[in-house]
Amino acid sequence: MNEKKPKKVRGVRISAINMVMISISCVLYIFLILATIYISRQYNDVHGSMDQYIAFEENKASLTDGSAYLTEQVRLYAVTLDPQYMENYFTEANETRRRETALERLKEVYEGDQAYGYLTEALERSNDLMIDEIYAIRLISEAKELSEKDLPARVQETVLSASDQALSGEEKIQKARELVFGDAYQAAKTGIRDSVESSLASIQKTTHEKMLGDAERLGATMSMQRWLVSILFAETIVTFLLVILLIIKPLQIYISCIKEEKMMKITGSYEFKYLALTYNDVFELKNANEIMLRHRAEHDPLTGLINRGGFEQLKNVLQIKGGELGFLIVDVDKFKLINDGYGHEVGDQVLKKVARALESNFRVSDHAVRLGGDEFAVVLTDMTKDMGEVVTQKIGEINDFLTHPDDGLPPVSLSVGGAFSENGFTDDLYQRADAALYQVKKNGRCGCRIQSSD
Ligand code: GH3
Ligand code: MG
Repeated sequence: MNEKKPKKVRGVRISAINMVMISISCVLYIFLILATIYISRQYNDVHGSMDQYIAFEENKASLTDGSAYLTEQVRLYAVTLDPQYMENYFTEANETRRRETALERLKEVYEGDQAYGYLTEALERSNDLMIDEIYAIRLISEAKELSEKDLPARVQETVLSASDQALSGEEKIQKARELVFGDAYQAAKTGIRDSVESSLASIQKTTHEKMLGDAERLGATMSMQRWLVSILFAETIVTFLLVILLIIKPLQIYISCIKEEKMMKITGSYEFKYLALTYNDVFELKNANEIMLRHRAEHDPLTGLINRGGFEQLKNVLQIKGGELGFLIVDVDKFKLINDGYGHEVGDQVLKKVARALESNFRVSDHAVRLGGDEFAVVLTDMTKDMGEVVTQKIGEINDFLTHPDDGLPPVSLSVGGAFSENGFTDDLYQRADAALYQVKKNGRCGCRIQSSD
């Protein structure tokens, strides 16, 4: 059957496009998620580099400040001779230990780094300087004749040289001041500062390079992310366009076809084309069925002529249309005798023959009707009164043909009554034709009478 025949349809399949689009989207989203993870990691790297740099600055300051504080306290002690400054000095050296703490913290990050090497060097120099500073403290403490037990351990451990031991109190103070204010001391301080600055320069360089590298990688990943977002955007637009082209547009076309009761245009994706072809098959089948049913409803199955129902509709149309027309009512004479004499089947053959004779003798534009039984009608379109003679002549020819059969069927004749109208199928047209027919029957049958006046 028709439905079982596979349809040859070519076109893009929505299901395939859908799969492709979903796959592309998935790949793009996976890359986008990875890019976002990388960006957050790389951002942390940049952040970490900056934190590292800030921590370095703080530790460097602690180291420098610790060293400067020791110098300051020893110098104040040398100048004021106030033991409080000595106490302050040893609190810093033994308890606060800012330099050592800073170096320990820096070791965690920069051990093995050149910068850390510079800082260790600075601390060593600072420690070397402390030997001189404590020596100066010892000199002052002895000059001030402070009790040995009140002195910090490291001062107690320090022993003056024999020459310095021999110096007077004033000379010892003088010597102590020279030790902490002298050129050698100053040079050592400069050495420490240089080491710290060198470490700063080195760390600045490496940190800057690291930050640049991290920032560059971050920039590259962000640019990739921008590309991915742009491609995703383009892919979304393409998807929308495909949806419009392959789904929405064909749907609009199909809806208008359904509304207008037309065959569907074969357009859009494979699925829609297939749907349209199937719809068109069903549509054609439905139309054929409708035509068949309408034909059956409006036509007589025996003769194939328009039946009474079809005639009623035709009458309505001709009433509305107006214009000149003629109407004939045709009745087979003594038809009962045919049925009785030759049988019903022969009667049917005769009725068919009469129908063919009416059809073939009138124009294609005229309508032959079987009103029922052996009664027929002919609607003569565009027929004027003066053509009554032509019609009478035609009926004469038909009667001549029917009364001299050569097909084995019994001879029959027709009685015909006719009337004309100038205003379409008027209400009295039928009665006038029927009255004329009655006259023919009354006058001996086998003839035609056209009612001339209204
Ligand atoms: P009249 O000349 O006065 O018309 O005489 P008639 O014998 O033709 O009388 P009438 O027109 O009344 O008879 C019609 C007959 O047609 C009656 C009926 O048995 C017969 N008939 C009606 N329909 C059919 C049909 O479909 N087939 C056949 N064979 N006969 C039919
Ligand atoms: Mg009859």
